[in-house]
Amino acid sequence: MTEMPVTVPLLATRDLVLFPGMLAPIFVERDKGVRALEQAYQSGETLVMAAQKSAVVDDPGADDIHRVGTLAKVVQFSRLSDGTIKALIEGRERVVIDDFISTQPFFLVRAQPLESRPVANKPRPRALMDSVTREFANYVGQNPQLPEEAETALETVTDPEKMVDIVAANLMIGPDRKQELLDGDDPEKRLLLLLETLIQENEFIALENEIAERVHDNFERQQRRVFLHERLKVLQEELGEEGEEESERGSYMKQLAEKKLPEAATATLTKEIKRLADLPPLSAEVAVAKTYLDTALGLPWGVKSGAEIPDVAAVARVLDDTHYGLKNVKDRIIEYLAVASLRGGTPPNAILCLVGPPGVGKTSVAMATAQGLERPLQRISLGGVRDEGEIRGHRRTYVGAMPGRIIDALKRAGVDDPVVVLDEIDKMESDWRGDPAAALMEVLDPVQNRTFRDNYLELEYDLSHVFFIATANYEEDIPETLHDRLEIIRLPGYTDREKAEIAQRHLVPKIAGESGLADLGNVFTPGALRGVIRDHTREAGVRELARLIGKVYRRLARMKVEGKPLPRRLGPRGLAKLIGPAPFLAARLGTEPQVGISLGLAYTGAGGDVLRIECVVTPGKGDFHLTGQVGEIMQESVTAAWGYLKTSLVRDPILSRLWAESPGRAYLLDNYQPPESGEESGPPPHGGERYGVPGGVPGGPAGGAGEAGGPSRGPGGHEVTDMEAGLRETAFRPEETAADVGRVPEPVCSLPSDHELLSALEVRMHFPEGAVPKEGPSAGIAVATALLSALVQAPVLPKVALSGEITLTGEVLPVGGLKEKLLAALREGVETVVLPSTVKPQVHELPAELKKGVNIVYVDNFVEVLPYAFLANEPQEGDGLF
Ligand code: ADP
Repeated sequence: MTEMPVTVPLLATRDLVLFPGMLAPIFVERDKGVRALEQAYQSGETLVMAAQKSAVVDDPGADDIHRVGTLAKVVQFSRLSDGTIKALIEGRERVVIDDFISTQPFFLVRAQPLESRPVANKPRPRALMDSVTREFANYVGQNPQLPEEAETALETVTDPEKMVDIVAANLMIGPDRKQELLDGDDPEKRLLLLLETLIQENEFIALENEIAERVHDNFERQQRRVFLHERLKVLQEELGEEGEEESERGSYMKQLAEKKLPEAATATLTKEIKRLADLPPLSAEVAVAKTYLDTALGLPWGVKSGAEIPDVAAVARVLDDTHYGLKNVKDRIIEYLAVASLRGGTPPNAILCLVGPPGVGKTSVAMATAQGLERPLQRISLGGVRDEGEIRGHRRTYVGAMPGRIIDALKRAGVDDPVVVLDEIDKMESDWRGDPAAALMEVLDPVQNRTFRDNYLELEYDLSHVFFIATANYEEDIPETLHDRLEIIRLPGYTDREKAEIAQRHLVPKIAGESGLADLGNVFTPGALRGVIRDHTREAGVRELARLIGKVYRRLARMKVEGKPLPRRLGPRGLAKLIGPAPFLAARLGTEPQVGISLGLAYTGAGGDVLRIECVVTPGKGDFHLTGQVGEIMQESVTAAWGYLKTSLVRDPILSRLWAESPGRAYLLDNYQPPESGEESGPPPHGGERYGVPGGVPGGPAGGAGEAGGPSRGPGGHEVTDMEAGLRETAFRPEETAADVGRVPEPVCSLPSDHELLSALEVRMHFPEGAVPKEGPSAGIAVATALLSALVQAPVLPKVALSGEITLTGEVLPVGGLKEKLLAALREGVETVVLPSTVKPQVHELPAELKKGVNIVYVDNFVEVLPYAFLANEPQEGDGLF
C-alpha cells in the first residue's frame, strides 16, 4: 500500500471509472491529461484517475471532478504521431482527493486512501456475497462478449471490497453507476448496490432477449404466411378454384382486349375463354384450352417491327459491309427489295431462294438482309420434314398438338413482319403424312397467305408481311411446285483468291475479335492463308476455313494466357506448327500420265469436285465390277460408255485402228482363255458355264445353234456382228461359220474375234472418292477415257478433267453445274477441262477469273477427246496414240 497522503498528478477521465485491480488501455488527447501522464510515467510514480462528473465538459475544473478516484500505475506509455498518448494503466487502490494543489500545467492533487469500515462477521454480508456471485454468474452467462476468465474471477475472493471492485469493473453499465459503486466506505452498502445493479442488469438482459425472440418469432410467422400464401396459390391453381378461375378468365379477356385481333378471331377466342371458365376445374381439357389460349394470344397479331417500306440503301450497306464479292447476289436482293418498296412494302410474288453448297454464305446473306431491314430473323429448317403438320400444325384433337413451324416462328419473332429463312427446302420429302411442299406453297403464295389457316390455331392469320428467304443446296431437288414460286439466286462457291479476300476482310477480324485477340489483328501471311485454303480445306464455301482460322486463334489465345510470346506474323511453317500438317496435298492429281486413270468433274454436295476414275482390264469371263461410291446415275454413265466402246473399238475407223495396234489388245490376246463349250453343244467338259457381259452378248460360246453365222471381219477391217460369238481358228477366216468352229477339236489353238476378246474380259472400275454427281449423268466421257486407256494400255495425261455425258454412239451431251466444276478444277490444279460444245454459251457467261487458269476445250464426239486426253503419238517411244 502506498504511503498516504500522497501528492500526485491527476488524470480526469470523461467516462472511464477505473477500479483497483483493473488493467485498462487508454488514449489521452487533452493537454492536461497528457502532461499528467508524462509526469507520472517519467517519475515512475503513480497518478490518480478520477472521472468527470459530466463527460461533455472539455476543460474540467476541480469542481467538475469526482472526489473519489483510483490511484493507478502507468504500465505502458507511448506517443502516437498525432500527439495522442496511448497508455496501459493499472488500478491500485481507491483514494479520496483532499485538495487540488495546482491545476496547471496539469492537476496536482493530494489524496489519501479511502478507508473502509471493517466488516463485522455477520451472515448478511456473506449472504450478499453469495447472491452477488450467483447473479454475476448469470450475468456472465448472458453476455457472451465478456472474457471467459470473468466466470472464474470470483472463485477465490473473500473480501467484499475486492468483490465489488472485480464485479463492477466487468459490468457494462454507465459511468454514473460505476462511480457510485466506486464510492462509499461501507462495504455492505457497496455490496447491496452491486447486487441491485446486477439484478437490474440481468432482468434487463432477460427482457432484451425476450423481445429479440419475439421479434424473431414475428418475423418467422410473417415468412410462414408468405410461404403458405404461395402454397395456397399453387394449390388453388392446381385445384382450379373459383376465385382463381374468375381472375384467369378476366386476365385472358384483358389480353384479348389489348391485342388487335381481326373480328372473327376475337369472336372465336372469346368463345374459347368462356368455355374454359365452364370446364370442370379438374378436367384435362383445362390445360389444353389454356395452352391454346396462351399460344393464340401470344402471337403478335399486327405488331410490326419497323418501317413498312424497306430501306433499300441500308440493306445494300449492310450487305456490302458484311460480305465480300457476291455482286450478283447482292444486286438481285436489292432489286427484289426495290420492287417491294414500290409495292408499298409487300414482297414480290416470287420468293427469294439462295442456292449453293454449304458455307457459301446463304444464311449469313439472309441475316445481313434482316439486319439491314431492321427486322428480327427466324430460321425454319425444313431438311427431312415429311409431315405436312410440321408446316401447318396438327389439329387440337391430337394429343400434344402444336401449331406449325410458321406460326411458331411468328410467335418467337414477336412481330408480323420478320425475315423468315426457310432452310433446305430441297430436303423436304413427301409421304403418306401429306406433302409439306404443298403446305409451304400456301404459305408462300401471296394470294393465299393473307388468310393462312394453321390447323392448330384454326384462325386466319395474315402472313403477307413476312419476308421469306429460302435456301437450298441443289436447285434440281426443289419440289417442282415450289420451284415456280421461287426466284433462284445461285451462290456457286469461291475461288481461292476470293476465299483469301473473305478470310482477310471478314473471317480473320471477326474470329480474332471473338477470341479476345482483336489487338493482335491478322497474323497470317498471304502465303499461310493460301496454304490453309489450298492444302487444309477442300470446299466450295468457307466454313472449314473459318473453323481452321478459329483453331489458330484459339491456340494463340492459349499461348497468351500461358504467358508465351505470340508470333506477330504466321508463315506457312509457323502455321503447320500450330495446326499440324496439311491433310490434303495440293497436288491430288498425278504428275505423270497413267494407264486406266481419268478425271471427271462432278457437281456434288460440296459444290464441285474432281472425280478420280480408275479402271483395270484383265482376261476373264465378262464380269464388270463397279466399286466405290457409285450412284444409279453413275452406273448409267458406265453402261453407256462401255456399250459405246465395245462396238466402236471394232467399228469406228479411228478407235478400231488404235485398238488393233494397241499393246492392250496384244496382252489380252496372249492371255485369252476360251470359254468352255456351252450347254447347247452338250455338257461342258470341265463344268464351265456361260459368261455374260454388260451390254449383253446373246448366245453362248462356240458350238451354238450353228445358224448364228453371218459376215464378220476382224480388227483388220473385218465386220463383226453381235450375233457372232464362236471361236475360230484365226481371226482372219471370215468364211468360217460358228457351226464349223464348233467342230474344231482344240479351241485353244484358234484366235478369238475382237468381239469375243472384248466379251471375255474382267473389267474393274473404281471411284475412290466417289462424289455422287447431282446434276445428272456427266461422267460419261471420263469413264470412257479410263476404260479406253485400260483397254489399249495407253496412259491418260494428268491434269486433264472431262465432263460430258456420252451416248451409245459416242455423242457428247451437255452437262450442268459448270461454275462449280470449274471452281473444283481450279482448286485441284487441273490444266485442261474438256466440255461438250453445247455448253460453250454458258461458259462464255461465267466470270473471266474462272477461265483464266485452265484451258477449256470443247468436243462433240468422244473421238475428239483423244488428242486432249492421251499423249500425242511419239513413234520412237511407241506408247503414244497420235
Ligand atoms: P451457308 O448458309 O451457305 O451454309 P453460312 O451463311 O453459314 O453458309 O456461311 C458460313 C460462314 O462464312 C459465315 O460466317 C459467313 O459469314 C461466311 N461467309 C460466307 N461467304 C462470305 C462472304 N462472301 N463474305 C464474308 N463472309 C462470308
